[in-house]
Amino acid sequence: MATTPETLWEVRRIPNKGYGVVATAPIDPGTRLLMEKPLYTRPMTDDPIKQQNSIVESLIQNLPDPAQRDAFHALASSFSVLYPDYPYYSIATTNEVALSGEQDGSSGLFLRWSRFNHACAPSAYWAWHDDHTSAEGKGGVLTVHAIRHLNPGDEIHISYFENRVMPHDDRERYLAEVYCFACDCALCSLAPGPWRDDVDERLRQLEAFWRKYHLGESDGPPLSPSSSSSTSSPATAATGATTTTIAASLPSDETAEGREDNGDGADAAVVDVKSLNQRRFLHDPIVCFVECREAAELIVEAEEDVGDGAGGEDGDIAGCIDVTFAYEIALALTLLLGDAARASVFAARNRDRYTVTLGADSASAVRAGLCARNPCADRSFGLGLGGGGGRIPSKVPDVGEVGEEAFEEWLWSPKDWQLGGAGFAAPGGGRGQGHGDM
Ligand SMILES: [Zn+2]
Repeated sequence: MATTPETLWEVRRIPNKGYGVVATAPIDPGTRLLMEKPLYTRPMTDDPIKQQNSIVESLIQNLPDPAQRDAFHALASSFSVLYPDYPYYSIATTNEVALSGEQDGSSGLFLRWSRFNHACAPSAYWAWHDDHTSAEGKGGVLTVHAIRHLNPGDEIHISYFENRVMPHDDRERYLAEVYCFACDCALCSLAPGPWRDDVDERLRQLEAFWRKYHLGESDGPPLSPSSSSSTSSPATAATGATTTTIAASLPSDETAEGREDNGDGADAAVVDVKSLNQRRFLHDPIVCFVECREAAELIVEAEEDVGDGAGGEDGDIAGCIDVTFAYEIALALTLLLGDAARASVFAARNRDRYTVTLGADSASAVRAGLCARNPCADRSFGLGLGGGGGRIPSKVPDVGEVGEEAFEEWLWSPKDWQLGGAGFAAPGGGRGQGHGDM
């Protein structure tokens, strides 16, 4: 694989912004624009600024290549007025990225990545992969992939928010406080009025979803962490006719790991049981599922509005947040309930999306692909049933046969979560086929 796909763009001077990254060729969504190793990493710390400045200074002075030292000094320095005596600290703080996974608690600096400017609805997606394997060996890399079609001359933007969404005024405040700049992206440039109100309303809804399901903020009673699968209490009664609820205390990771390995993807758990234990969303699977659908539809609609060939940025929310953040919750839920049919569809959608945003070689895309092929092998499969009930017996309907609308209705209206329910009745009694592998 080419590790320097940078012939597609170049760093140019951008009016009023210093430098930025501009497309030099037509670029399709899913194109890898960058794969970069950190110039350095260092533990994140609350040490005094003077001390941090010295640490970064010694890291830079010890670089073997003088060109790298020059490139560091040429980076933006947003805090130079605030901290005139600490130039290394100012550049580091402006440009460093918080890392995750094995490097959790560290930050890294990336010379080329630092040239991408921010937009709240960006045209490219960046991510840190702590376990990437390439021709050069194993180690952490940061990637950037295009998520929209770009034309030569378009500036390529990433978002500094990492899937966080905020309405206009909150974003303005956040960017000023944390990044010391006033954003003039297409979204932030929307004039006050009905259109901006509509955009803000959708962002508020997505922000509420994000806070509830990813940060665990909820008004429901807390789930008690459990180390045993033998203690399970019924969840709050779900709305509607469903009789399937998720055990209020999920088994621990250890219990999940003890499950039998059937050889295909059993190590590739897509659901982090430990972290689910700390969330509260499992009390009402139906309500959770409805909220996943609403969030996913908001994002998908915005992306469809932009369209593949549109190019540029039109001021809508496409790109603000990735649709996988809703599909991941839907996948976790269907896996826990033992709904193999729906889980395979959500896993396949995640695989396809991760292929665009992270690359087909990313651990997330590979894991989701395994899960799409064999959801029953996931360690979390069926764990939410609390020892009662069987697997949900539905089949994936053939989307070509029933049409997209009926397919979505089947996907998001899990009438067969009622134990013994009839499941999806495809017109003409057609037997479903594995949409997940399409
Ligand atoms: Zn903006």
